Amino acid sequence: MNCLQEVLVVDYVFENIMELVVKNQVEDMMERSNQCHCDKCKMDVMALVLNKIPPKYVATNKGALITRVQSYSRQGTADLTAAITAAMETVKNFPLHEG
Ligand SMILES: [Zn+2]
Repeated sequence: MNCLQEVLVVDYVFENIMELVVKNQVEDMMERSNQCHCDKCKMDVMALVLNKIPPKYVATNKGALITRVQSYSRQGTADLTAAITAAMETVKNFPLHEG
């Protein structure tokens, strides 16, 4: 078996898909809000949310991963929206960005 060939054919990745779903949704929600959405504030919100919700790890190829993230994002769980809203409130009240 040629290892290089195997890598090229089967390009698997190991990811917590919630990380990607949360990242998309946090960016979307923060950019539509009137609170600071600098990179630091966005990352603080993502970290707070991801520490609260259970991770969902998948081992899949890159193409399938994107499809799964998209279908997960479309389902738009109410729990996730609530967790992000709460985290945004925390970051707004106690911002950790510089200046
Ligand atoms: Zn900020």
